[in-house]
Amino acid sequence: MVPKRPQNIKNNKALRRIRALELALTLYYWICTKVNLRERIKFIDQKLNELYPDPAIPLDHKDPFTLLIAVLLSAQCTDARVNIVTPALFALADTPQKMSKQKIEEINNIVRPCGLAPRKAKAIRDLSKIVVTKHNGIIPKTFEELEELPGVGHKTASVVMAQAFEHPAFPVDTHIHRLSQRWKLTRGKNVVQTEKDLKRHFSKDRWNKLHLQIIYYGREHCPALSCYGLECVICTSCFPTRKKKVITQKA
Ligand code: SF4
Repeated sequence: MVPKRPQNIKNNKALRRIRALELALTLYYWICTKVNLRERIKFIDQKLNELYPDPAIPLDHKDPFTLLIAVLLSAQCTDARVNIVTPALFALADTPQKMSKQKIEEINNIVRPCGLAPRKAKAIRDLSKIVVTKHNGIIPKTFEELEELPGVGHKTASVVMAQAFEHPAFPVDTHIHRLSQRWKLTRGKNVVQTEKDLKRHFSKDRWNKLHLQIIYYGREHCPALSCYGLECVICTSCFPTRKKKVITQKA
């Protein structure tokens, strides 16, 4: 007669089987997710290149200084409005030397249509002084030095590094943050995480052009309040079974 197995040995075996099954399912899900993500990245990359093969820099400028000032003014303002305002500002002063000698009130009067004018005017005058005294009148070419200037955060520094100095950077504004969430390229905790995720997904030589292409796509097809991931070619191709609206987190 075969001796009876104690009950707890049988239970342990069953438990091990369940755990092995769970592990296999997790692995399967992880592989599928990675494959889907890779395909999605490739599709988005190709589609944006097809739609915007040569995206222009949206802010009018003639050198790194005028670009830096235009980017600073574009905070909470449209590029189109900045482009209306900057000709008068640069007619007044188009170099750090000239700008550093202007009165804040005079700059303020010109940049008022861009919003946050008192703060922006002070930053423009103060950063110009620092560029003259500390950097010999030349806009510095490192993130650290740029981010030390008044009114210049990481996004502004990234735009200048990418667009004025052609250094690989991925400036993430509110549009890029929103689209990255709708395309499931990031979980969208904040812009810092989104920048990290995008840099991981796309090769370095694509960053500078890609950030402009995403901005153009966002402006043309993907406004903040009128679509939630169910309409255009990118979402319908990448997420054919999506049924629910994608609610994004703000930057
Ligand atoms: S489907 Fe809507 S949310 Fe998705 S990219 Fe297109 S416009 Fe944006």
